[in-house]
Parts: sequence; structure tokens; C-alpha cells
Amino acid sequence: MFEVALGYIERNSDSLHPDAITNADDIPHKVGGRPTWLHRNSPLDVEHVTCSKCQSIMPMLVQLYTPDDEVPEAYFRMVYLFACKNGTCKSFKCFRSQLPESNTHWCQNAVLSKSAPVCQICGLKGSKVCTGCKAVNYCSKAHQAVAWKLGKHSTTCGTDFQTTIGDAAWEAIKKEVEFNELEIVTEVEPTEKEAAASKMNVMDVESQLGGANLNMTEQEQEEADEDIRDAPDTEVDVDDAFLKFQKRIEREPQQVLRWARRRLEDEEDVMEDADDDEEETDHQVLWVSEQDKPKQDSDIGVCSYCQKPREFEFQIMPTLLTYLTIDHASDKAFDFGTVAIYSCPDHCQPVDTTGVPLPYMPEVAFHQNFSANGLNDRIKNVLLGRGAEIPQ
Ligand SMILES: [Zn+2]
Ligand SMILES: [Zn+2]
Ligand SMILES: [Zn+2]
Ligand SMILES: [Zn+2]
Repeated sequence: MFEVALGYIERNSDSLHPDAITNADDIPHKVGGRPTWLHRNSPLDVEHVTCSKCQSIMPMLVQLYTPDDEVPEAYFRMVYLFACKNGTCKSFKCFRSQLPESNTHWCQNAVLSKSAPVCQICGLKGSKVCTGCKAVNYCSKAHQAVAWKLGKHSTTCGTDFQTTIGDAAWEAIKKEVEFNELEIVTEVEPTEKEAAASKMNVMDVESQLGGANLNMTEQEQEEADEDIRDAPDTEVDVDDAFLKFQKRIEREPQQVLRWARRRLEDEEDVMEDADDDEEETDHQVLWVSEQDKPKQDSDIGVCSYCQKPREFEFQIMPTLLTYLTIDHASDKAFDFGTVAIYSCPDHCQPVDTTGVPLPYMPEVAFHQNFSANGLNDRIKNVLLGRGAEIPQ
């Protein structure tokens, strides 16, 4: 049994930097920034997140903390999604990582291990070390160059990197190598009835306050729908998947992520769901287009380890783009319609030849674009018009 949890951007979050997280209960869902590694002794190596198209290092776009206490091996569980910042690549990579309850790195209320050296620039495995001071680690030559140039390590080598680098240089580095960091909070998606009821409540209050037109919200919605259908510069048929997508996100227009979360079955839920056709497909991907949907055989496939067909786990929504500090006007701007993550349904835990659990299991990130050029901008405008904030 699944329920859909929606992710929203939390504006006022505490520090999300991995060094600030001192127990497993505080591991955040987030966009951007540095990954919080569950396997603190083996951060992910740069070779796993190098874009296969442009060879640049892909920063983390989303980390989702997804423990599942029904599966002993996944008592602590994370999914990391990486994306190439170069919008023309459309390159995404996804990894699952997990630990049992009894482990040497994390427990609910403490961090148990010291972190292995990470790249000072990006937080990936720091397998290279500055030959001058032997005190600064990097994941790659590329990030050594960033430290040298933007971090001025060429002139400060021999002094403490963290303290001499300065805030302005850090900001420049982060802008260069990361997606901006924002916390994601989740809530269960309201049913259509609940969403309609809360809309009615808002309208009731509005009408009491100032005699506002009761039909306003509906009217606004129609206008927005027309915006999409009748954009002046293009003549495209908006496909059924897109209309379905648009209708569904109406319930909560600010959602940036949809997560099909496993929940404990109880009889009452099963009875309720049986009455409601819609609930049965609740945890399916909401595609933005009828075109280019994935094929289970060739695009999604089976878990590389246990061979079970991968299942949909979560998707990120185009609303997320409005929160990212990117130059939306550039034709190389980072962009997508939606990205759906498929993973092993059993959260299986493979081991290496010596019996040690693998820290990272590659899963599938399938991206889909809007069906016609130009539609991305229009959906963004419409979404923005409905309440998503543009970050400063
Ligand atoms: Zn690339
Ligand atoms: Zn790095
Ligand atoms: Zn140095
Ligand atoms: Zn598996």
C-alpha cells in the first residue's frame, strides 16, 4: 500500500550542511548542497557522477531520506539524485544507499563515526590531496583547479582552508559547483475532496471579508488553462498526460516532489481505497507528456542485484526549477519536464566479494520533457502565477 507524499521547499531551515547533522533523525530531505553520506567511511567517488556527455562533475540535485523499518537492511536509507548542470546534456544519475539499525555510522540520536576525507569543494570522496600542504582533499583535478582559482588556495596553501577562504569565495565556489541548497519538507497529498474543501474554505473567508467573487478561483483557473492552450507563439496540441498532470498539481501547486511512500496496511485503508478508483493509481508517475514515456524492459529494467523489476519511487516536478538559481533565459539552462526515480522494490542489500555491503546501488532516473518546445516556459509562467515563489 502506498500513499503520495508531496515535497515543498522550506524557506527557513537550519544549516543543512552535512557537518551540521549530528544524528540520523536530523538528516534532511533537500535540494542541492553537499550530500549527507550514510556510509561515512565511503563517500561516493567522482567517477560515478561524471556526466557521460560533457564529462563535467554532476552536482547533487536532491537527497531524500527514506528509511524503511519494515526492511532490516534499509533501517536507514537515502536516495541521491545527481544532475549535470549543463541543460543540453539532460544527464541524471541516481543512487540508493542504506544501513541496518545496528551499524557503525549513525544512530537515531548520534553520529558514531568520523567521516572519511571528502573533497573540500563538493563533498564527494576526497581521493586526491594538495601536494603543497597535504591538508586539503579533492575529488578531482577539476575541483583542485576550482580551489586554486576561486578559493585562492594558490596563495593560501599552507594555511587552514576553511578559515582563510572567506565567505565571498565560498559563495562563488558553491555557485560554480552546486545547486543552491534548500530544505524539502513533506506532507501527504490531499484527496481531491480535501483540496476542494480547503479551497472552499478560503473562498468563504474571502467572501466574508470583502465580498470577493465566489467563482474567482475557478475563473482564474480557466484563464490559466487558456494560457496554456492558446499561447500566441505556438500551435501545439496539449496532450492528455499534460492535462492530467496539470489537473492533479492544481491540488497543491507548490509541490516540487511526489514520493510514493510505503505505508503499513490497515483494514480501514483497504476498505476506503476499494471505494475510490483514483487511489489505485495514486502512486504512479505523473507524466508531463504522452510522448517518451519509459518502457519497463529497456528504460527501467530490473534491479542489477536481485533482478526484481524496479518500481517508481519518487519524481521531481518542474516547479523545482523556479527555486534554483539558474539563468532561465539561457538556452543551455538546466531544465526538465519531470524526472522519475525507479528503484529496487525490496531495498535489497548486495555485498562485495568479501561480504562487505555495497554502499551505493545505482538506480534509474528517467527524465521526460514537455511535449513541445516553448511549453516549458509557459508552464513555468503559469505555475509561478499560481503561487510558487521565485527565490532571491
Ligand atoms: Zn553534462
Ligand atoms: Zn569535488
Ligand atoms: Zn595546499
Ligand atoms: Zn534489488
